[in-house]
Amino acid sequence: MEFERLETLPISRSDFNKLDVFRKVSFESLAGYLLGCRTFVADPGTVLIDPDHLERNLIVVLDGSLEARSVNGKGLVYSTIEVGQCAGEMSVIDNVKPSARVVAKEKSRVLMIPADVAMAMLNASHDLCLNFLHILSSRVRNNSNMVVEEEFHIRCIEESSKVDSLTGLHNRRWLQEMYTREMHRSNAGNYPLAALMIDIDFFKDVNDTFGHLAGDQVLIAVAQVIADNMRPTDMPVRYGGEEFSIFLPEATIENARIVGERLRKGVESTPIHLDSGEEIKVTVSVGISERRKNDSVQDLIDRSDKALYHAKQNGRNRTCLNVEDNSLFLV
Ligand code: GH3
Ligand code: MG
Ligand code: MG
Repeated sequence: MEFERLETLPISRSDFNKLDVFRKVSFESLAGYLLGCRTFVADPGTVLIDPDHLERNLIVVLDGSLEARSVNGKGLVYSTIEVGQCAGEMSVIDNVKPSARVVAKEKSRVLMIPADVAMAMLNASHDLCLNFLHILSSRVRNNSNMVVEEEFHIRCIEESSKVDSLTGLHNRRWLQEMYTREMHRSNAGNYPLAALMIDIDFFKDVNDTFGHLAGDQVLIAVAQVIADNMRPTDMPVRYGGEEFSIFLPEATIENARIVGERLRKGVESTPIHLDSGEEIKVTVSVGISERRKNDSVQDLIDRSDKALYHAKQNGRNRTCLNVEDNSLFLV
């Protein structure tokens, strides 16, 4: 390369050597191609890569920094492109519309390499190809990480929509899906499955006497007693208001009776400390039934609800079983 031609190059050898994209690439091998490139000073906000624009360039940051932003929605920033890094390499290679808009983050000086010149450079330099592979793999890895994070975020939102924010137990939305699944499994394999319906006694009086916030604290405390007594496979749910539903997979009505009584006694003996400094106790009534052949989720819940109603009618703070012939048996 003669000295005169080097003088007209858009960037100097020392600039060239500082750029990541040209790492280990010999300046001499590409100097001829640099003659077909130009530098450009972009003010903040200048769009350097526009998906709607046909011209394809590889852009290398010489000073300042750029931002790659999503094309749709609010123009979310995907990544910042710093000195020595480049943008537009994918479109240069596959000649497909860029998926992001690249904008100057601050006043920046860039080297614009037209797509055909960039391809010719790649043909000429094995080292540049390796650098491109390196850049592309980190782009792919970045994108995969973003997808994984996004999926995780979506799953967290989905999960939180199935949790009752007051008690931390699952809600009816979760019940619908999980109880149905458990019912299918239980019907198909003819495994036992028992259901409990639990309702706080005279809860309206708690609200009326101590206020709604105290009522909320009672709900939290009762939910805690329930949660503390569950095995990992048990399925407690805040069914609504001051009612809780529990599916106990693999449990017979006799197993459920023991659990129901343990919960009833647990609530009865748990003092609840209200924010007001007062300490109160509440009781619950419990209705229990077990799966019968070809039951739906609702069939099983309805039968345990019937038993709960019977427990309420017979003095509250009681457990009642809805047994095989539909007779109600007070514990
Ligand atoms: P029973 O012994 O027959 O079950 O009587 P109860 O007073 O417990 O039942 P009732 O259905 O008359 O009252 C339930 C009350 O629960 C009425 C409603 O305002 C209250 N409630 C429902 N959800 C919440 C909640 O999230 N927080 C509070 N503090 N109260 C609630
Ligand atoms: Mg109640
Ligand atoms: Mg109720």
